[in-house]
Amino acid sequence: MTDDYTGYAPTLVALSLLVAVIASLVGFHLAARVRGSRGLARRLWWSGGSLVMGLGIWSTHFIGTRAISATADLSQDLWLTLTSLAFGVLTSALALAIVQTRWLSLCKLLIGGSVMGVGIAFLHYVGIGALRVEGTVSYDPMLFMLSIVIAVSGSMGALWLSFRLTPEKRRKVPLWQISLSALIMGVAIAGMFYTAVAAAQFPQQDVATEIGASASDRLAFTIAFMTIGIMLIVLILSIHDAHLSSGNARLAASLRKANYELKALVSRDPLTRLPNRLLLEDRLDALLTRGKPGAGNEFAVFFVNLDRFKTVNDSLGHHVGDELIQQVASRLQVAVRDSDMLARVGGDEFIIVSAENTGRAQSAKIAERIMSSLGKAFQIDNNLVRITTSIGISLYPSDGRDKHALMIHADAAMYFAKDAGRNNFKFFEPGMISATERRARLENRLRDAIENDALTLAYQPKVNVITGEIAGVEALLRWHDAGLGNVPPDEIIPIAEESGLILPIGEWVLKTACQQSMDWHAQGYPLLKMAVNLSAIQLNNKNFVSVVKRVLSETQLPPHCLELELTESAIMQNPDRASMILLRLRELGVMLSIDDFGTGYSNMAQLKRFPISCLKIDRSFTSGVNSDLQDAAIVKAVVALAHSLNLEVVAEGIETPEQLAFIRDIKGQQYQGYLCSKALSSDDFQAFLQSRYPVNA
Ligand code: C2E
Ligand code: CA
Ligand code: CA
Repeated sequence: MTDDYTGYAPTLVALSLLVAVIASLVGFHLAARVRGSRGLARRLWWSGGSLVMGLGIWSTHFIGTRAISATADLSQDLWLTLTSLAFGVLTSALALAIVQTRWLSLCKLLIGGSVMGVGIAFLHYVGIGALRVEGTVSYDPMLFMLSIVIAVSGSMGALWLSFRLTPEKRRKVPLWQISLSALIMGVAIAGMFYTAVAAAQFPQQDVATEIGASASDRLAFTIAFMTIGIMLIVLILSIHDAHLSSGNARLAASLRKANYELKALVSRDPLTRLPNRLLLEDRLDALLTRGKPGAGNEFAVFFVNLDRFKTVNDSLGHHVGDELIQQVASRLQVAVRDSDMLARVGGDEFIIVSAENTGRAQSAKIAERIMSSLGKAFQIDNNLVRITTSIGISLYPSDGRDKHALMIHADAAMYFAKDAGRNNFKFFEPGMISATERRARLENRLRDAIENDALTLAYQPKVNVITGEIAGVEALLRWHDAGLGNVPPDEIIPIAEESGLILPIGEWVLKTACQQSMDWHAQGYPLLKMAVNLSAIQLNNKNFVSVVKRVLSETQLPPHCLELELTESAIMQNPDRASMILLRLRELGVMLSIDDFGTGYSNMAQLKRFPISCLKIDRSFTSGVNSDLQDAAIVKAVVALAHSLNLEVVAEGIETPEQLAFIRDIKGQQYQGYLCSKALSSDDFQAFLQSRYPVNA
């Protein structure tokens, strides 16, 4: 078998090709693993991968040399063989190290590919050197160069492919693409070996014996199967790990998403999807840390509160209240600028933090825009709901330099806006204290006021529209506190209701008013029908009917001379219970009327079930009868309706003769208002009576 080194054993050639293809496949997979893992896992994949790939490449070479009859039976130098294997491992380690990096630059491709190619060539030529050849091996220079070129370009191709095949941005590489690439790579590796073998010219050898040949075949097969076995195990491990980590990645992604949604949930108001207080405070913090107080850094905090929202909610139901809040939110969103932040911080409370560079003048403009936008009627189901708004504004840095000061001051200013008759806005001024602070102070003082008899009643006449005679009188609560000044009932009542003080106060009002009516009568004046305002809490108190009974018997006031005024919302809080209690009061002979009629949106059909005798049309309608067609139409309709239901009508808040003329024209029976008299102290009211019904005291 002289010179017959071109004879090949086809099974072994196929086997070496198979090993090369599998090694490529394993290489591509490992490249993805190494890139996709971190820390220790990455180092393990890298070193383990280098070993296995190196073994694969070396096996391709080893089986290749066994496939060639010229070299098939040569024994090998162990150390050089191991050195050749080491080159395979080092080259693989280099390849995997390169693919760990993020980008494959041209420079990296050229240098990395060259070093790898040379490494593979070394593997081969050291491997050949390990053969114990008798004499020297010479090389064909052209084929030698060609084998290096194939090794280098094959390595570059491998690098390039493994970057292309690594899943990037969740793109999954199809299996066929990987397999095809591995096939090409495998052919390239094997091709390089066979070219290099062809470059070697071996000296004449002894003829191989049958036994020797089959022994070398067996060795080649053993190495091939072991290598394939190891590579397949690593491949399976790699695929399994890829699966696991993509599962982990998916888990991490869904956790991230859940986290994000949770954050959105806790920082958003569920009804309006607006930011809540949490997010708003973040924004305030950001604004406050961004710039030092100075020109260009001023901004405003608006505290927006709807007037009478509770009435809408109580009388029309929560779904209408919710809808109203949603519509208000979207109108506010339009009214503010994109750069301002709007948040919902309570039931009917919103806070707006303006963008930087918003001074006083611009803040006033924003407030005006908000008020006019919310001033237009809201269409909700079949209801036309009208509300007004009170706004308090604090400015950074003049009204506060931290978020709490700014919010508390805006709140205090809002409270002053409400106090100034609602439906307006106020800038914070030093001396304004926050609503909560004032509330706490008021509640304390109110307890003292009850004990010290500091509460008084004022009396306002109800007048017959036609005759001008006094048809009755309404008792209104008054409180003058040395420190707080005159506290209006609109402010006292909510605090009294919340603190439970409304029950003793209400009973005191009832008793004082009934007693007063009897006292004036005792002095010779006509016995006047006395009207007393009731809170929903009193109405719902289980002792209320017996309290009324007791007061009537103690004061001796005839029941038909007591009139209880209730708002629609007080009745509608619990209509069944209210109708039962009102019936019992009616059985006592007490008169009942609906106060502030028109603001509570209750429907007439429902009102018919209550034993009432009078409707009081709210001041907000009567004040506009001469100027606003809609108000005039509403008042007219209410009067007509009252007539048809056989109810009396009292027009509240009549201030001008024209308003009175309007009421007279549409046949309203009574009115109340400054035109005749304000609410007067008991002495003043007695003087008023004296002027009308002179008695000789
Ligand atoms: P209300 O029952 O509707 O009382 C009428 C309010 O309008 C009174 O205010 C009265 O002074 C005012 N007023 C009367 N005529 C005119 C007018 O021509 N023009 C204007 N601009 N206002 C007029 P006040 O006394 O401040 O009472 C406010 C509310 O406080 C009352 O509204 C009533 O709901 C409540 N309130 C007063 N006293 C009591 C009470 O003893 N118990 C309960 N539960 N509520 C009370
Ligand atoms: Ca009243
Ligand atoms: Ca009223």
